[in-house]
This record gives sequence, structure tokens and C-alpha cells, in this order.
Amino acid sequence: MIDIETKIAAINAQIQKLSTKKNLLGNPVILVAVSKKQPVSAIRSASAIGQKHFGENYVQEAVAKIREIDDKSLIWHFMGAIQSNKTVVIAEHFDWVHSIDRLKIARRLSEQRSTEKSPLNILIQVNIDADSAKAGVTPEASIDLAREIHALPNLCLRGFMALPANKLAQGGKFSIKQDESLSRQSFTKMYSLFKNAQAALNNESFNYLSMGMSGDFVVALEEGANIVRIGTAIFGPRSS
Ligand SMILES: *Cc1c(COP(=O)(O)O)cnc(C)c1O
Repeated sequence: MIDIETKIAAINAQIQKLSTKKNLLGNPVILVAVSKKQPVSAIRSASAIGQKHFGENYVQEAVAKIREIDDKSLIWHFMGAIQSNKTVVIAEHFDWVHSIDRLKIARRLSEQRSTEKSPLNILIQVNIDADSAKAGVTPEASIDLAREIHALPNLCLRGFMALPANKLAQGGKFSIKQDESLSRQSFTKMYSLFKNAQAALNNESFNYLSMGMSGDFVVALEEGANIVRIGTAIFGPRSS
């Protein structure tokens, strides 16, 4: 699949260019290829050219694909809604979780993560634009939640994740063309909240800010993201 190869190479080149200009958090930028609703063959095409990080939103679909691919060198990120009865499967199959907004779910993941595995990397999802109908902890509550999660064993708290409001407003139907200035405002707010949290927590593992998708990852990188989550711009439209 030359197409996937070309797209990943182009995105990596952009990341390279932007992150040498403004990598505010120090870590190399992680490109997560969001492969939800994409076939195993697409994931294999991407991994064949060295893509390691993949993102999924639906537990059942993800686990079936992870088992089928069975490649221990791949790093799996969960970024969807989490029901309590799914935590055991997530704790077993994933390396990162981006969508934590409740202590209860974090506690379950901590209890269920095998001590034989490395700690599960956790990002707290912040509802940066305070849209009460949407997922994510409020900015005001985010640092307290971070402290509580930092105290749990078998988890490693790595940072924050956010989805800007204009995407939330579309009810999860993300489009390539988005209002850049709205995104930028949210990303800027998110970066400053993240820096406050870093200062308050004094936890050296807390050094990742996951924001930016196909339509706005350039803006997100400019505003300090060091994890971008890109689906459509790599794999094309998703099957429904
Ligand atoms: C689907 C999804 C993405 C990728 O979106 P694209 O617009 O296809 O790049 C990123 N983050 C989350 C949380 C998602 O659910």
C-alpha cells in the first residue's frame, strides 16, 4: 500500500520540521496511527514501514485485531469511551490509555494490570472547552485527578489528552476541514493547563500532551503537542 506509506512519510516529515522548531516538552513526538474501523491489512501496511504506535476506540474490534496481528513490537493506544466491564481487557491488551476521566476506571485498570507487564501508560482526558455533555474531566478537577492517579500502582501517569470543542460539537464525526483558530485557542489553553499540572505534580513521567488529529495536527504541534492521533489522513475514510 504505497498510499499509506506516502502519507505516513509526509506526516513524519511535517512532525520533524515542526518539532525541531517548537518541541516544548522535550520528548520526541509520537505519531499514533488511529486504525479504528480500518482493516488489519492497513495496519500491516503501516507497520511494514516502521509505524509502531496504533490507536483504537472500540474494545472488541481492537482486541480482535491485536490478537490477529500478534506483533509484540507494536504499541497499542486506547482512546475510546471506557465502560467498567471492559477495563480488564484494556489492562491486558493495551500499552497506553488516553481516555481516562474517572478515578474509578483508573483504579480498576491499576488492579487489573498484570505486575508482569510494564505499567499501563495513562493520559487524563480533559474537557478543555467545558462542554458538559462530553467526555473528559473539567480543567479545574484535572490536577486533583492527576494526583490521585499518580498514587496508583501498575499505572504510569504520562500526561493529558484533549479533543477541541469544534470537533466535539460535530458529535464525533470529525471532518478534515476545521476552524483552525478555534482549535488553536483550545490547544493553547490545554498547553498552559498542562504546564500548571507539571509544576504542581512534580512527576517526571508526566511529560506528554496528546492533541491534534488529521485536520489540525499541525496547529497542535505548533501549540506544544507531543502526541498526535491521526486516522483519516493516513488510512483514508473509515468503514462504518
Ligand atoms: C478517531 C479519533 C482520532 C483520529 O481522527 P482523524 O480525524 O481520523 O484523524 C483521534 N483521536 C480520537 C480520540 C479519535 O476518536
